[in-house]
Amino acid sequence: SSLMASEKEAALAAVPSDSPTIFDKIINKEIPSKVVYEDDKVLAFRDIAPQAPTHILIIPKSKDGLTGLSKAEERHCEILGHLLYIAKLVAKQEGLEDGFRIVINDGPQGCQSVYHIHVHLLGGRQMNWPPG
Ligand code: AMP
Repeated sequence: SSLMASEKEAALAAVPSDSPTIFDKIINKEIPSKVVYEDDKVLAFRDIAPQAPTHILIIPKSKDGLTGLSKAEERHCEILGHLLYIAKLVAKQEGLEDGFRIVINDGPQGCQSVYHIHVHLLGGRQMNWPPG
């Protein structure tokens, strides 16, 4: 939340679980989001706290136990591939011809704060390496 001093604090305060998250409310349109792409399997919307001129989250509409990448099972291979393919389509739609970055945070040390798997698409500025 905005009371959190940083994304890192939010991540360290987040309790990993398979409970519904704020992303379910976004999928169900119970809370507003800026949707940039949608199909029957995934939703892509703008991050509320953008870390780059383009910062979009791509999520599966059905979590199916996929709280994070570390929980992936073989049955998730299709949706995982679809998430990455849609990330590429959205990057093109956003005009990120000079490049972009894909990030999947996992667990407390990976700074994950929402336990519904999501792919970050970041672009529109020069990225740095290593990431923080
Ligand atoms: P992560 O830290 O990888 O778990 O990423 C969670 C992301 O969700 C953060 O970048 C947040 O800014 C973003 N986020 C949280 N709530 C919302 C919301 N209501 N709408 C859009 N993005 C959100």
